[in-house]
Amino acid sequence: MPQGKPNHPLTCRNCGDSFLPSCNREKECSIRCRLLYYVERSGDCFLWTGGKSKSGYGCIQTDGRTERTHRIAYKIFVGPVDIDEEVCHTCDNPLCMNLDHLFIDDHQGNMDDMVTKSRQARHVGESNHLARFSNEQAEDIRLQYARGEVTQKELADLFNTSKQCIHRIVRGKSYVVRPAKTKVQKGEN
Ligand SMILES: [Zn+2]
Ligand SMILES: [Zn+2]
Repeated sequence: MPQGKPNHPLTCRNCGDSFLPSCNREKECSIRCRLLYYVERSGDCFLWTGGKSKSGYGCIQTDGRTERTHRIAYKIFVGPVDIDEEVCHTCDNPLCMNLDHLFIDDHQGNMDDMVTKSRQARHVGESNHLARFSNEQAEDIRLQYARGEVTQKELADLFNTSKQCIHRIVRGKSYVVRPAKTKVQKGEN
């Protein structure tokens, strides 16, 4: 424990729990609470209101390193991110931490993405790197839920996934198959 730091429990200003301060944590009990404390809704986006980098991304110091807040949010609330994977925005707002607006891509994919600007079409549905279901399974999940026979929790258990994943599917945020540009078949008529 460094000199001069209080070593009695403090109260987290986000969740109200008491916690022991550490070099990174003096006002919130965890990184999670820090993210939640500094978030502000703007339209559909959940914007980071704390410190920013020159490039406009939200930043937090964790374990002596600076990390982008949307990337931390993805790691905490969704799952692990490989070192060579990029967490990208569908909303183009670098401060946004809305999990529905974040997706993972490898670096090259992100470059291509910036060039082609075809974000949504390329990253929803089973073509997504994170896809665990076929589009048929996703459709099945939506149908079952729409009939009101099962809860999202039950579907999550049934498909061995998280409730959040099911939530995204039934809300049409994941595995939405957009109509492809269909080629006109010649000689059919
Ligand atoms: Zn807390
Ligand atoms: Zn957003």
